Amino acid sequence: MVGEPSMLTNEMVYEVNEVLPEKKIRYLMGCGYPEDILEAVSLGVDLFDCVLPTRNGRTGMAFTSEGKVIIKGSKFSADNAPLDKKCNCYTCRHFSRAYLRHLFNAGEALAGRLVSYHNIHFYIKLMAKIRKHIEKGTYKQFMSKVSKNFDFR
Ligand SMILES: [Zn+2]
Repeated sequence: MVGEPSMLTNEMVYEVNEVLPEKKIRYLMGCGYPEDILEAVSLGVDLFDCVLPTRNGRTGMAFTSEGKVIIKGSKFSADNAPLDKKCNCYTCRHFSRAYLRHLFNAGEALAGRLVSYHNIHFYIKLMAKIRKHIEKGTYKQFMSKVSKNFDFR
């Protein structure tokens, strides 16, 4: 499921779920935006595989608790805050937004690695929150709150 509009993907996931055995794990390839993952989980998908966290990380786009951050922007040139104030990953504990921006503008490969590292950490935390809310029976509320507040596209 790579490249289709998310509405079509969701329709296909719904249709396929009707014929798949209920107790089998459901895998969706190429679904990577947080809002799409949340929707797919609500349709029953268990596993995901997508390049988005690292591909976008390599080009300077970070997934954060405040939404999308394009770290190359000039507004970060003197921003000493971490990439994501609510994140405790290696990148956020050791590097400022200004330094990450500097690395990108200097063409340093480390820049893409550090933002990718943060993005993967963001996704690991997102999936942990999803599991927690499913277990608590509060997934629909969680999904609604996240989808309402963030647009990562
Ligand atoms: Zn981080």
